[in-house]
This record gives sequence, C-alpha cells and structure tokens, in this order.
Amino acid sequence: MASSTIDKSKPYFPLAGGADDGWSTEDEATATCFCGAVQLSFPTHGPGYVGSFICNCSDCHKLTASVHATNFTVYDTHLKHLRGRDNLKTYSQSRTVFVKTPGKDNTMTNYFCSTCGSLMYRVGAAFPGMSILRVGSVDDFSLHETKLRPTMEQFTKDRVAWKAPTEGAKQFVEDGLHVQ
Ligand SMILES: [Zn+2]
Ligand SMILES: [Zn+2]
Repeated sequence: MASSTIDKSKPYFPLAGGADDGWSTEDEATATCFCGAVQLSFPTHGPGYVGSFICNCSDCHKLTASVHATNFTVYDTHLKHLRGRDNLKTYSQSRTVFVKTPGKDNTMTNYFCSTCGSLMYRVGAAFPGMSILRVGSVDDFSLHETKLRPTMEQFTKDRVAWKAPTEGAKQFVEDGLHVQ
C-alpha cells in the first residue's frame, strides 16, 4: 500500500520561500528567512545547543501571528551568520516580557529580516550569552521532529483550548526556562 507519509528519519528539505541552499550535517544545520537574504547556522547538539521548547505566552501569539512559538536556544559562541547579517533589523521592548526581575533589565530584542519580516531570533537581557531561534525557520524539516523536538512547554495558561499539550514536553503553567 502506498504511503503519503514522508520519511523524516533522513534530511528533508521541502520547497519553502526564496532560498533552496539550506543544509544539515551530523553537527550543524541552517536556518533561513522566508526570502533567503538571511541565513544562519547553528549546532544541533551540545555543548552549543541548549534545548527546544514551545511557548504559549501572549507575546509569542503576537510575534508568530499564530498561537504559539516553537523555539530553540543556542549559545552565541556557536551561532554563525552565513549571510545577511546587515539585513537584520531589531525591535526591542520590555513592557510585556515574561521574565521580570525587579531592578534588572528585562529587554527582549527581536532580530528580523528587513526584506521579508521573518523573525530569526530573539536575545534577552535575562538570557545572557544565548540567542533564541525558531524551529520553523530551520531548512531541514526532519530536524523539527528529531533533534529540535521540544522537551519543554511553557505558559500553558495562555495555550488555546483546542491545542493539546505537546507530547513528551514537560509542562509549565508559566515560565519554564528559569525553573529547570
Ligand atoms: Zn528575508
Ligand atoms: Zn513566549
């Protein structure tokens, strides 16, 4: 019987947006914006790779124009800008950032492609030395299901009722990043 299921146990690069030069190896992979102007590479395992998580917070609703974000965190020492770094624009704010430490800088800064608007990563004063990337921008879609599969889900209090808890992901009503 023919199956329409795609074998994602091996690299899988579906057509998506303006670039088709994404790649992955045993140790690294690319993330590319929708138009292709900005391309990053990052490690897919430790020590440079920190972890992957789902966030249902209210900012992530707005940031994704969806109802949750699927993020992964990488140490800045291991994040490479392959092209388009000068095409990134930034937007910062601290009003609704979820991690609020009184007396501390709570600013989160978004880095997005100035051509197509894709949000490539976020950098937070509460998360020094690391960048928070987006699983959906990773070109090898097989990684979305394997190495980049979320192990934590946070802000379940703001999760839409029609979305089930992510299987295998530890659940947190609010911030899960600072209590692990
Ligand atoms: Zn772009
Ligand atoms: Zn969030």
